Amino acid sequence: MAVDAGGVASAVRQELGSGLRGKLVCPGDRGYDTARAVFNGMIDRRPLAVIRAVEASDVVGCISFARRHDLRLSVRGGGHSVAGNAVREGAIMLDLSGMKALRVDPETQTVRAGPGLTLGEFDRATSAFGLATTLGVVSTTGIAGLTLGGGLGWLNGRYGLACDNLISAEVATADGQLLRASAQENEDLFWGIRGGGGNFGVVTCFEYQLHPVDLVLAGGLAYPLDMAPRVLRFYDDFVKAAPDELSTVASLGLTPAGEPTVTIVVCYCGPIDEGEQVLRPLRTFQSPIDDGIQPMPYTVLQSVRDAGFPSGRLHYWKSGWLRDVTDGAIQTLMQFLPRMPSSASGVGLQQLHGVASRVAPSATAFPHRAEQYDFLIGSQWADATDSHRNLQWTRALFEAMQPHLEESVYVNNLGDEGPGRVQEAYGENYPRLAAMKRTYDPDNLFRVNQNIDPC
Ligand SMILES: Cc1cc2nc3c(=O)[nH]c(=O)nc-3n(C[C@H](O)[C@H](O)[C@H](O)COP(=O)(O)OP(=O)(O)OC[C@H]3O[C@@H](n4cnc5c(N)ncnc54)[C@H](O)[C@@H]3O)c2cc1C
Repeated sequence: MAVDAGGVASAVRQELGSGLRGKLVCPGDRGYDTARAVFNGMIDRRPLAVIRAVEASDVVGCISFARRHDLRLSVRGGGHSVAGNAVREGAIMLDLSGMKALRVDPETQTVRAGPGLTLGEFDRATSAFGLATTLGVVSTTGIAGLTLGGGLGWLNGRYGLACDNLISAEVATADGQLLRASAQENEDLFWGIRGGGGNFGVVTCFEYQLHPVDLVLAGGLAYPLDMAPRVLRFYDDFVKAAPDELSTVASLGLTPAGEPTVTIVVCYCGPIDEGEQVLRPLRTFQSPIDDGIQPMPYTVLQSVRDAGFPSGRLHYWKSGWLRDVTDGAIQTLMQFLPRMPSSASGVGLQQLHGVASRVAPSATAFPHRAEQYDFLIGSQWADATDSHRNLQWTRALFEAMQPHLEESVYVNNLGDEGPGRVQEAYGENYPRLAAMKRTYDPDNLFRVNQNIDPC
């Protein structure tokens, strides 16, 4: 049954009525502009209505409503997708950010977590029990989108990706069911949501395995850009041979004074004295301008990068997997860095290592299982008049890096880059994912995402 823009609010009220525990926010309502805003300030889209769900029944009701009226449906977890897939012009926006229930079971070292939680909220709650699991490295990111696409963070070397730590999930599917997916129930769905994003349904609850994590040995080493060739070559050899306890990120950027620098940030999640020994060669092979490595609570490490990613800035990202930090790759980066238009931008090499790299590519939907780096040109700036030169620089650097990158990309870094690039993100698992899509969502209701085409 078709419904026009003006009729959506009354149709929602009529059909969901008192069954809707959450809130309906429509154009013209107070709070509409806040509700439709997402992390990336480049995204300015006006949904027909925002349904702010507070429990699973709201989610199921919203899915049925969108389906009945043949309306596009976008799903918002933490709203951090740089492509802006949490919101679409003229769609129904299902906002899960109010679903923040969280229950830690210290006995089994597991947690059940709502899809509206940010990493910071999740980490704070589990750290009260001395427990954590792999999530990302900026605490304002949502656990939902991050986990469904893979989830790369400081604990990946020792404990795998966020999706590797998923024990089960409750999934609202396109046909209005609420299914439990785990290794024992709906196994194919469980396989698909560990890397296949929101293509198969809306997750209303995640259950994760936790691990004892308290103090970690972590922090950064900074060097001037002219040392980058020696530093990055040493870094590449060193971190590939490092024990699973060590996960790292190398980044290149500008200081606030405009000086190009290379920084290596590490997290050793094992005994601190062992970490000191492991890290000694990295800390002493050259003299850094700054060595901030020290024991710190894991939750402190999880928020140290937050200040660099305030909400509302304009973002444009390009990304691909990098196997080796070759001389050619370093040379290209050295050429481009001094011309980076915004000192807020950065180029990151986030290491996929250890346990995360050794899972079989077909064991979960996330296929990129190798010792490698998630290479990301993360451009951000504050003033829209600077957009053109930031976009140009980012595209030119990405183009120049092509010979050094794999023909594949981490799905959670993708912008609006077309179906070919989406296929590269799902890689060898794409045919199985497409078959699953035909089973779980043949009409492609869940298409406001990095979409797997059921046809
Ligand atoms: C500052 C910043 C730092 C980042 N750091 C990391 C990092 O360290 N490691 C890493 O792996 N990634 C990182 N990312 C990428 C991040 O994983 C993605 O942006 C991810 O999409 C964020 O999830 P979200 O819930 O916040 O996003 P949203 O924009 O809300 O959602 C992203 C996608 O997931 C879908 N979705 C969200 N919730 C659900 C749900 N419950 N059920 C079904 N589908 C859902 C949405 O529809 C959308 O398609 C970072 C991103 C940013 C902006």
